[in-house]
Amino acid sequence: MTAQPLKPLTTKLGELLIARIAAAGPITVADYMQTCAYHPEHGYYSGSDRPAAGPFGRTGDFVTSPEISHMFGELIGLWCADHWQSSGLEPPIRLIELGPGRGTAMADAVRSIVQVPLATAPEIHLPEIHLVETSPRLRQVQARTLAGSNPVWHDRLEDVPPGPAIIVANEFFDALPVRQLQRCGPDTGRGEGWRERLIGLEDGALAFQLGPVLDRRDGPSLLQAPAFARFADGEVVEIAETARAMIKTAAARLAEHGGAMLIIDYGYGRAPGSRCVGSTLQAVAEHRYADPLDRPGEADLTVHVDFSQLAHGLGDLPSLRIWGPVTQGIFLTRLGIDARATALSADASPAERADIAAAAARLTAEDREDKMGRLFKVMCLTTSRSLPAGFESGEREHGRGFS
Ligand code: SAH
Repeated sequence: MTAQPLKPLTTKLGELLIARIAAAGPITVADYMQTCAYHPEHGYYSGSDRPAAGPFGRTGDFVTSPEISHMFGELIGLWCADHWQSSGLEPPIRLIELGPGRGTAMADAVRSIVQVPLATAPEIHLPEIHLVETSPRLRQVQARTLAGSNPVWHDRLEDVPPGPAIIVANEFFDALPVRQLQRCGPDTGRGEGWRERLIGLEDGALAFQLGPVLDRRDGPSLLQAPAFARFADGEVVEIAETARAMIKTAAARLAEHGGAMLIIDYGYGRAPGSRCVGSTLQAVAEHRYADPLDRPGEADLTVHVDFSQLAHGLGDLPSLRIWGPVTQGIFLTRLGIDARATALSADASPAERADIAAAAARLTAEDREDKMGRLFKVMCLTTSRSLPAGFESGEREHGRGFS
């Protein structure tokens, strides 16, 4: 990522948002993120006027782990095959991916899964694949990447037929809308409590504003947790209502039918409320950071995923175990990325060998806060008693503490 920020750009969606706010008043951050991502014509993911190849890769706005190296998806595939077997689930392996992007991780996963003979049914190789994807354009890309694997597409996780499954979500939750609430202290004269960060207009341009102090009944119920009383004036929390609803749906499905879920995303894992993180809303376009309000619909808007908030949202599902989050660096190293890189290098040219080593290092590097191996975390939900690969027994249910 280049450090220099991008210049503001007037986008069609920006003009529409300005007109809408001028007519109907300020909107929430969640509303803004939702519109920027899914506006039918100009939305970043769903818009009919967006580039056909999608936003990923060297020529797009950002590069995700599966686009860095095939080793990523291959290891995820091996994880799925291993977990399916150790959980004693009947073949075929059923995989559900949320937000598959270009379909690269799934294609790599399938390639490695078909090489693992299942003990219970060695003749069954091909996994059954369900893709939950809202973008018609990306569905076309996925169909090309996964030609031969017979994927089935769905608008929502709820639409995937019942049965045991492993659900994979890489860089999916970070794009889902969050509400942002700012603490208002007792000495400000505006009443103590939480005010919603809104997007309104200032001199005709989009600008952050604060709404009135929320009535206890209007605020998200999460704010009633004791930890939230300790926030200081001006501090911001992000409430991931959409992500919480989605993981709840996934967990309920797993609790009923069995299986597992792997969530990989950049974010943080400590109990929410223990430290204020402020706004994590960020925009990226053409591999550079942009102001989140500068290029609506044409920059990738994301937030850091609060894994503890997601885990807490699951409440008590006795049959479900929550693992991690652990860093991506630890997870991939435990899955054997180094051995995989060595094996791939055996028949490679010196230049290819250097590429393989660089990719493995990039995916796992933890020497700085912003390196992928450290910034990205992996959390896992399971219904079987077996220890999922990539985690250790002490790393269970870390996220649920919420005092
Ligand atoms: N997992 C991919 C892509 C991540 S980008 C990778 O690692 O490369 C986010 C993906 O989620 C895109 O495919 C986008 O179209 C999809 N998406 C975003 N919001 C969605 C939603 N609410 N439901 C289903 N898919 C969604």
